[in-house]
Amino acid sequence: MDKILITNGIILTLNPEQPVLFDKALLLENGTISKIADKGEITDFKGKEIDAAGKVILPGFINVHHHFYSTLVRGLGKAKPSKDFNQVLEHLWWRLDKQLLQEDVYYSALISAVDAVKHGTTTIIDHHASPGAISGSLNEIAKAVTQCGIRANLCYEVSDRDGDCKTHEGIKENLDWLRQVKSEQSDFLKGLFGMHAAFTLSDITLHTIAEESRKLNCGYHIHVAEAASDEQYSLKHHNKHVVNRLKDFKLLNDKTIAAHCVHINEQEMEILSHFKVAVAHNPQSNQNNAVGIADVVKLAKKGVLVGLGTDAMTVNMLEEIRVGLWAQHLKHDPSQGFMEITNTLLKNNGEIANRYWGGKLGMIGEGKAADLVLIDYYPPTPLDSNTWLGHIIFGISQAMVDTTICGGKILYQNKKLLLDIDEAEVAAKSRECATKLWERF
Ligand SMILES: [Zn+2]
Repeated sequence: MDKILITNGIILTLNPEQPVLFDKALLLENGTISKIADKGEITDFKGKEIDAAGKVILPGFINVHHHFYSTLVRGLGKAKPSKDFNQVLEHLWWRLDKQLLQEDVYYSALISAVDAVKHGTTTIIDHHASPGAISGSLNEIAKAVTQCGIRANLCYEVSDRDGDCKTHEGIKENLDWLRQVKSEQSDFLKGLFGMHAAFTLSDITLHTIAEESRKLNCGYHIHVAEAASDEQYSLKHHNKHVVNRLKDFKLLNDKTIAAHCVHINEQEMEILSHFKVAVAHNPQSNQNNAVGIADVVKLAKKGVLVGLGTDAMTVNMLEEIRVGLWAQHLKHDPSQGFMEITNTLLKNNGEIANRYWGGKLGMIGEGKAADLVLIDYYPPTPLDSNTWLGHIIFGISQAMVDTTICGGKILYQNKKLLLDIDEAEVAAKSRECATKLWERF
């Protein structure tokens, strides 16, 4: 792999001890940031040099909750209007995902992963469903993200909504995938055990999942209290709150991701904090589905590690973080939430990803992964260790991504894809798949 030297950029390290570096060069070797030094110190360099003048350099962005499979829904107007979240599932997602074929799964992921590269997102934690094409679906996604050169943590969302056969096929897909990533020890692909949500999982299924997955020592990825109806169902049918129920099946641990948590109570927050479960906050999705807004301020106060996902609304993490901040302002008041929300993407997502990637992601430093994004930006006001977060939210988030590097490989440069992918051809193939999928819908 080529050595790369990046010079002249302003480096936003996401390391709280030294968040902004000026006049430093980054040397990338073997997929890692091997040296951060004054440009003059790196003398006999032979390799590729990137002049980052007029740009800020950040670690590649991390998305902790995504659904690659939802790409082909874009523009589909056939679903009945939905009055609440359960209708959104019944009228749209549960009709769509049943019809997905392996080819749809692959092109959905490929389109979304290319888009991620263009927005500087280099790591995605995904939650996949395709009840009509379960076995092998995670390998279809893996093929697509590998072609795009980014990192992904994949799982299949098991649910009981399509009968026992599908439940067991989903369990097997997770187990096969977890065993595969364990044996391959890839730096790019990881796994979790996926479950849709408590209200689509019986006690028998939760027990089976707990038993079957125990030896793998894995984390779980599940939607939790996205709408109030999840909690209401749990209280009515199981006489306990969602988080308590998951705890009783021993499904909470420090690799588990609970997506949404809009409607959990304070005691559930304390349980999540106790078991070091990460929460994936998805503010755009929550507003789109009108389910409410998770109380990120209170979750943080309770010691819960809250990261930022997009729930497939976008792969642009800087768009999501802005919406997250406005949502907390609306929920509380404009003085609230700034640190809690900026921490989700710029601190906690790294911490969450490092639970699977062993400490190398989410920060610029010597020995860290060479996952970087270069964004066009001339700071119009003083940029330093006190002001950099404001620059990210109000300025850098609106600027253009110029270059994306993952694992020391340049995937996108001068706003052009350097992947071995013909974007127009991929989009044409995807439109073909979408047309047929919409006919089956
Ligand atoms: Zn989701």
